[in-house]
Amino acid sequence: MVCVSKFKPEADIMEAYNAGERNFGESRVQELLDKQHDLPDDIHWHFIGHLQTNKVKQIVPFVSLIHSVDSEHLLQKINDEAEKIGRRVDVLLEVHVAKEQTKTGFTEDELRDLFDKLTVYNSTPFFSALNNIRICGLMCMATNTDDQALIRQEFAHVRQLTDELFLNYREKANRHNTQQSPITLDEPILSMGMSEDYLIAIEEGSTMVRIGSDIFGERS
Ligand SMILES: *Cc1c(COP(=O)(O)O)cnc(C)c1O
Repeated sequence: MVCVSKFKPEADIMEAYNAGERNFGESRVQELLDKQHDLPDDIHWHFIGHLQTNKVKQIVPFVSLIHSVDSEHLLQKINDEAEKIGRRVDVLLEVHVAKEQTKTGFTEDELRDLFDKLTVYNSTPFFSALNNIRICGLMCMATNTDDQALIRQEFAHVRQLTDELFLNYREKANRHNTQQSPITLDEPILSMGMSEDYLIAIEEGSTMVRIGSDIFGERS
């Protein structure tokens, strides 16, 4: 579980911290930087918001997982900044499944193209340049609706897509030198489920839920 602490004061985070929580999620870079500066070093910070490329550099030194990578350009930028400081950064790719146009993320076809490009036997320059990220799984947000059946269908669909992409990849990668694989060969992470829909998400195969208001109360 990632405790989504965006817009909430540091005192609230410390209350959850003292109860044993160590994973916190933020959606704005400046807010994350301020909190990371003030709060204990053993917190695992998750970035879950839209990330602008010009701000990547600031969070790469310490971020534990970036959930919201929504373009190849951003992926490349994270890799480049991580390379400069000799880190390898764990990321998730955000899939666009919801009906709302406003939500961001890769389409399924874009993801399939990207995985093809990154497949190890196909040693393209793009692949060899990505030694400083590890794609650990996918993230999605369901449509904001009361229609539980639609939410369930979207989550189930992303679970299927995760298995398709990562298991296919693993099968191919295992036949080759996987030292530098930019995609995890472990079980993929599937980050889905928020306060309103996490029970459905877990039933449909989520491995990581992002809970804000159910923990910290409504945001103003
Ligand atoms: C705010 C936010 C959450 C948490 O939402 P709640 O409904 O408060 O649980 C989860 N994921 C993302 C990407 C968010 O922006």
